[in-house]
Amino acid sequence: MARIVMKFGGTSVADLDRIRAVAARVKREVDAGNEVAVVVSAMAGATNQLVAWCTQLSPLHDAREYDAVVATGEQVTSGLLAIALQTRGVDARSWQGWQAGVVTDAAHGKARIEEIAGDEMVARMQAGQVPVVAGFQGLGPDRRITTLGRGGSDTSAVALAAALHADRCDIYTDVDGVYTTDPRIVSRARKLPRIAYEEMLELASVGAKVLQTRSVELAMKERVRVQVLSSFDDGTSLGGDLRGTLVVDEDEIVEKEIVSGIAYSRDEAKVTVCRVPDRPGIAAAVFGPLSAASINVDMIVQNISADGNTDMTFTLNRADLPRAEQVLADNRDKIGYRELVADKEVAKISVVGVGMRSHSGVATTMFQALAAKGINIQVISTSEIKVSVLIGAEYTELAVRALHTAYGLDA
Ligand code: ADP
Ligand code: ASP
Ligand code: MG
Repeated sequence: MARIVMKFGGTSVADLDRIRAVAARVKREVDAGNEVAVVVSAMAGATNQLVAWCTQLSPLHDAREYDAVVATGEQVTSGLLAIALQTRGVDARSWQGWQAGVVTDAAHGKARIEEIAGDEMVARMQAGQVPVVAGFQGLGPDRRITTLGRGGSDTSAVALAAALHADRCDIYTDVDGVYTTDPRIVSRARKLPRIAYEEMLELASVGAKVLQTRSVELAMKERVRVQVLSSFDDGTSLGGDLRGTLVVDEDEIVEKEIVSGIAYSRDEAKVTVCRVPDRPGIAAAVFGPLSAASINVDMIVQNISADGNTDMTFTLNRADLPRAEQVLADNRDKIGYRELVADKEVAKISVVGVGMRSHSGVATTMFQALAAKGINIQVISTSEIKVSVLIGAEYTELAVRALHTAYGLDA
């Protein structure tokens, strides 16, 4: 007998037939004698619709009300799945984030889970009941509903697995594992039977949506055994038979590739703050107010100045652009810039691999492969196991395919 958290993403609960299929899969685990807790996402497309409604009413909407709206998608699926399970004779009960004791910080729209009080759920699981927990949501210190950022149900699942001391956290999605790149845009992508926490963390943070970044961070910290599986196959992965991808410690991977994966993000926007005075304190003047407004900045470049003025370019999440423009406009006098230029037609492409620590030339291969396709690089950033470039959005797929081939990853 094992204690398992099973998480089902949006396409896995996209309609009533899919919800019935999920219920059948959960029932198989219960019938096998396991204690099961389930975490669900909203039905595919539901969250996008809810976000769009908020944005259409006001691009600068109140984040607390945004959370009140977008958290409803998961409320629906948790109730529906509980009904589908009950119909099959499985004792099941839905739990909203606040009912499940999911306590978060105050960062509405991208809150972090601080604690989950799992005692009552454990007691019910021991009595044979299946909790069906609404992912993506919790309760903030202001006693209002919070959400965890897009893709946040993965994090709900891992946090719940840690709180319940589960043996496994199975993330069921619409692909059967983590691939060398998004299999939807590169048909020759290869499935990785195992991936190191560090690599998965880096891939997720640069756009591989298969797991939310924070979920990997949490799994690594809390030692949660995470596997990514398809909810669309026949279910023979029961009982821990690993047919998906297992996220493991680096030393559990024998064959270390130099580059193990390529990710892209189309959620970026580029902002250039033109003609700022080139003097000490200017970066703090630009980025201080942004961070105070909980806006994360990613890549940054500052040009050298010929006449004591310079341009500062950075990238951020596209959804944060309206607020960032507002914050910078509010601080214009303090910063002293001449003009703000925003560009949404950009994409970030990244190559990731722990082998980069000991091999040189990875970035050069990237630059050459992009040059061969005539793709201009706008911004570059690197870390110990990653190289990222910002390019025109129209070249995204071409760039990912070219790099997949250049690093010898094609199947
Ligand atoms: P869910 O709704 O189940 O959470 P997501 O859409 O959030 O599913 O994540 C699964 C998607 O992640 C896949 O459909 C795939 O297009 C995308 N993806 C991006 N990069 C990768 C990768 N390296 N391996 C697998 N899937 C990836
Ligand atoms: N429904 C939320 C989203 O679409 C959370 C999730 O699916 O993980 O972002
Ligand atoms: Mg997801």
